[in-house]
Parts: sequence; structure tokens; C-alpha cells
Amino acid sequence: MISDKLKEAFITHMNAEFESYYLYLSMAAYLDDQSWTGMTTWMSAQAEEEREHAMKFYEHLAHRGVRPKLLAISEPKHEWDSVLEVFEDSLAHEKEVTSLIHNLMDIAVEERDHIAQSFLKWFIDEQVEEEDTVGTIVDQIKRVADDPRGLMLIDAELGKRQETAI
Ligand code: MG
Repeated sequence: MISDKLKEAFITHMNAEFESYYLYLSMAAYLDDQSWTGMTTWMSAQAEEEREHAMKFYEHLAHRGVRPKLLAISEPKHEWDSVLEVFEDSLAHEKEVTSLIHNLMDIAVEERDHIAQSFLKWFIDEQVEEEDTVGTIVDQIKRVADDPRGLMLIDAELGKRQETAI
């Protein structure tokens, strides 16, 4: 039986993952509008991954006899000044999500909920990868600075994501 405290925390977090999906979809729309086709592919795949994260929480709740309550999704940011700013925002967002996941684990430990702890372990590991991946992209974009040829190479590289994901 999942405690009320953990149930509420999981519902709130499911919503945060849906908000991540919305934010990354908004970033993908911006990148597409700027004709960064590879970055659009990468960010669309990233958005889809966030929707899958939300659905993992949805299914975890449903499997434990709790109806997943869907909350309102905040309107995401729409405008950025550069692709660097997009990926810096993405990195800052991932760091925030990491701390939310760690808080959830703290509650699961407090509530002595071993099923939830086992479930959350995957997300803790996943966040290490997410921060590392986005952090590398931010470093690469900073390295090429305003050189359009450098950005084009990064764009082409990021465009390969969909091919490997399928
Ligand atoms: Mg996520």
C-alpha cells in the first residue's frame, strides 16, 4: 500500500515529467523554426523520452491501485536568444529534475516504501546520464562559439539520434 504522502508526491512528479515533455517540445518547435534540423530531431526525441518518464509514474501508480490524477500543465517558455541558451536551459532543467527525484527517494525511504525505492532507482541512474549528455552538448556549443560551420557539425551529429533510437 502506497502512503498518501508518497502518492501525492508521485502525482506531482508525474506532472513535472509531462511539463518536461512540453518544455522540450517547445524547444524543438523553436529549433525547427530556426532550421536546425538535427537539433530538432534530437530535442523531439528528448521530449518523447520525458513523456515516457511521465508514463512510468502513471503506470507505477496504476499498478499499485492508485488512479493517476492528471494535473494542469504550465505554459512553457517559447523564445530563446540562441541554441546555446536552449541547451543551457535544458541542462538547468535536468538538474532541477534530479533534485526532485532525490526528494522523492527521501520520501520513499521515510515511508519505508521498498517498491517505490526500487522504482526510483532507475530514475536516479537515468538522471546521471541525462545531465552528462546535455552537459556535453552545452560544452561543444560553447567551444564552437559563433562559428556557424561548427554549429552545423553539431547539428548533423545530433540529427543521428533518431536513427540510433529506432
Ligand atoms: Mg525525465
